[in-house]
Amino acid sequence: MNWENFLKTNIQKRKLTSIWRERFCIDKSNSRTVSFQGKTYLNFSSNDYLGISHNKNVIDTWKSSVNKYGIGSCSSGHVIGYTAAHRNLEYELAEWLGYSNSLLFISGFAANQSVITSLMNKNDRIFLDKLSHASIVEACIFSNSKFRRFQHNNPFSLKHMIQNSSLGKTLVVTEGVFSMDGDIAPIDQLYNITNEYRAWLMIDDAHGIGVIGKDGRGSSDIFNIKPEILIVTFGKAFGLSGAAVLCNKDTANFLIQYARHLIYSTSMPPAQAETLSEIIRQIKNSDFARAKLSYNIKYFRNNFNLKNIKLSKSVTAIQPLIIGNNDQCLQLSKFLRDKKSIWVQSIRPPTVPLNSSRIRITLSALHQKKDIDALLEALNDFVFVS
Ligand SMILES: *Cc1c(COP(=O)(O)O)cnc(C)c1O
Repeated sequence: MNWENFLKTNIQKRKLTSIWRERFCIDKSNSRTVSFQGKTYLNFSSNDYLGISHNKNVIDTWKSSVNKYGIGSCSSGHVIGYTAAHRNLEYELAEWLGYSNSLLFISGFAANQSVITSLMNKNDRIFLDKLSHASIVEACIFSNSKFRRFQHNNPFSLKHMIQNSSLGKTLVVTEGVFSMDGDIAPIDQLYNITNEYRAWLMIDDAHGIGVIGKDGRGSSDIFNIKPEILIVTFGKAFGLSGAAVLCNKDTANFLIQYARHLIYSTSMPPAQAETLSEIIRQIKNSDFARAKLSYNIKYFRNNFNLKNIKLSKSVTAIQPLIIGNNDQCLQLSKFLRDKKSIWVQSIRPPTVPLNSSRIRITLSALHQKKDIDALLEALNDFVFVS
């Protein structure tokens, strides 16, 4: 097949399946509103749960650190790209979350890839939750380990699989708060199982860190458990980007030797690291925003009463409405956007399982009661054209 055919066939195939993806070029957004082509919409699609991306202290810190360090790190952390700003952030993260070590990555995607592919080899096995993020699934494939997916949030399913003995190491991977469903993993039960079978537990807490737990310490704090490997990302509640792995000293030393994303990729800008340290301070002091977010979640759930759409069980800021059918899902998000000036993302396969297309509502501490009222009213006005 030639290049032209390859591209045309695959594009055509996507177009026919109603999972065609398109991007919108946004003018600007915060976690309450989006402007697009000069018009303002209520925003229910942001992961900036506490409104940190526009926090004044954070913005001032970024400006002053750029003045101090320049804009980029200019090399890998193994060359000259590891500064006092990076080191301080690693210390602060480790201390805050109760680990001996932490290492920074440029994204959560890179962290998951790097940690799993460097730690896990051919004779090892990985058990991951069926609904784990694409970056985890792909990492498992690249690692060449044997991997199996256990039923979503089901410790019995994991227990059933892990019982068979194995020559190599065993890693169990799951998310703290699931990105597309908003439900929380039974971390205590999973941890009991990994302990019993001398396996390690890795939690990707992209959507839990900053938002839940004491001082925003995340999902595992709720259960008072420290998974052997914790991944936190800075693109969601931290309102910026980047990620870190929290682990013990040997694991950190191992990763410094073998994690290719650390060795062969430019490290995050020092100004970004310094800004992330300021964000940690802000997040620790964000009890008010977290309470406001909890209030918004309760308000949304208590006032939701749609006949033909069911509310999920999620008690977090991620509130999916499962529609099932791709076209109806697109119609709903288009209706909300075009007719009601409300921006809500529709999520379709393969991001979520077949027949579980959904609109994914994310609530933030910046939303006001009247914003949620507008959303609920708009949802009520929607009649399926099926
Ligand atoms: C967003 C997300 C990632 C990827 O993090 P980035 O920093 O955006 O690359 C990884 N895991 C989960 C569960 C996520 O939601």
